[in-house]
Amino acid sequence: MNKLDSAIIEVSLREAGCQFVDNAKDADVVLINTCSVREHAEQRVWSHLGNLKHTKETRPELVVGIIGCMAQRLAGELLNHPAVDIVCGPAQIPQITELVTKAINEKQKNLAVTENIRRKTPEYQTDALEKFEASYGIEDKQIPGQARLPREYGGQAFVNVMRGCDNFCSYCVVPYVRGPEVSRPPAAIIEQIKKLADRGVKQITLLGQRVNSYKYIAGEKIYCLANLLQMASDIKGIEWIKFITNYPSEEFFDQILQVMADLPKVCNYLHIPAQSGSDKILRAMNRHYTASQYLELLEKARAVVLDIAVAGDFIVGFPGETEEDFQATVDLVKKAKYRNCFIFKYSSRPGTNADKKLQDSVPAEVKQKRNSELLAVQERISDELSRDFLGRGVKVLVEGLSKKAHLNLAHAGGEPQLVGRTAEDWIVVFNGPASLAGQFVKAKITKTSPLTLFGELT
Ligand code: SAH
Ligand code: SF4
Repeated sequence: MNKLDSAIIEVSLREAGCQFVDNAKDADVVLINTCSVREHAEQRVWSHLGNLKHTKETRPELVVGIIGCMAQRLAGELLNHPAVDIVCGPAQIPQITELVTKAINEKQKNLAVTENIRRKTPEYQTDALEKFEASYGIEDKQIPGQARLPREYGGQAFVNVMRGCDNFCSYCVVPYVRGPEVSRPPAAIIEQIKKLADRGVKQITLLGQRVNSYKYIAGEKIYCLANLLQMASDIKGIEWIKFITNYPSEEFFDQILQVMADLPKVCNYLHIPAQSGSDKILRAMNRHYTASQYLELLEKARAVVLDIAVAGDFIVGFPGETEEDFQATVDLVKKAKYRNCFIFKYSSRPGTNADKKLQDSVPAEVKQKRNSELLAVQERISDELSRDFLGRGVKVLVEGLSKKAHLNLAHAGGEPQLVGRTAEDWIVVFNGPASLAGQFVKAKITKTSPLTLFGELT
């Protein structure tokens, strides 16, 4: 979601005639798009601001803006920081060009955030939808002199289908900074995907905090995610459709699985965070399922969608998590057989229920130990699953040069290392011409590691 927001910002500014430079030292305007999900991400922003304050001592004309969830959460504090000129919440991103222009011309601090962000009145919903739709117009504009939009890199694009979240998991700041859940009208989403397909986008990823709870009521008809997937699947040119992130819930689950099984364009990849394997901790997290209900959902998914790859998120060291609770999580990870897991150490977020009512009781060293242990368990599972690919051919959508592209030129006749993903979201690296970015290729897997498959173009 943040990548997409950054892309929207980039497109708006390029359209207004701004140029992008590689280094903040060469910039007249520095914008930082922020995340508030964990404290560490916010600390890094404060440290960047410390550096920018020094830069401003010699270059007072430098304009600095903070955008995104941290701007929404800490508006006043940020505005008071000597380095900061612009504070812009996630919902105000469509105004960014205006804010930057004002900051340059008027040399005044500018604040744009949503007041009373949890208002969930019908007026708010209509107003929010109108604002969001205006911002989608921005994303879809072609930038002069640029063949592709930043978010279309590698033939793929993200598409927001909803905003905000109403779940209030007790640890999570998202509902407080992104506001109430609002689903976009299906017609607008499909229109947008058609435009992307016309420009050569082959894979779209539908985005929502709980994307499987997408619900749009139009008269008698209720549209759910399965309907969106079906409609997107009918669009010529779109070949792969992914969607993230799913909340473990029965609602609409059968329909979504059926669509995954029936429609070849809908990728067999399900990111469905469990967060913990202990029922006591799940209750304290305000997650509305038990570990066994979660495993039943996975079992059903595997029965309906053959070859489905499942990924998850976990938080270790949640307040009150005992060794026994943690072992229940280890147990769940072993049973779930994820292709990949994202594991986070609990970070107390001001304003959330966990922060207000529970003590951050698990010491940092214990969080670290549990994080490493869970990672090691998952690594063994990923390693085993990836070995199955040895000698097999896979279809890959090429994203572009790999991070190590510059190191590998000596191999494969000077062709750089490329990276792409399979429909099940496995990362594949291989050597080939950079011009393959955005194309589908076949690769034969010659070596595997827990997170990456290594192959040769065939
Ligand atoms: N909407 C998505 C993801 C939200 S944030 C979902 O519900 O799955 C992404 C991940 O960050 C979460 O899945 C969770 O594992 C982690 N996370 C969220 N808040 C956190 C916190 N306070 N401390 C540590 N990890 C957190
Ligand atoms: Fe946060 Fe829970 Fe909503 Fe995900 S579902 S964004 S973790 S409150």
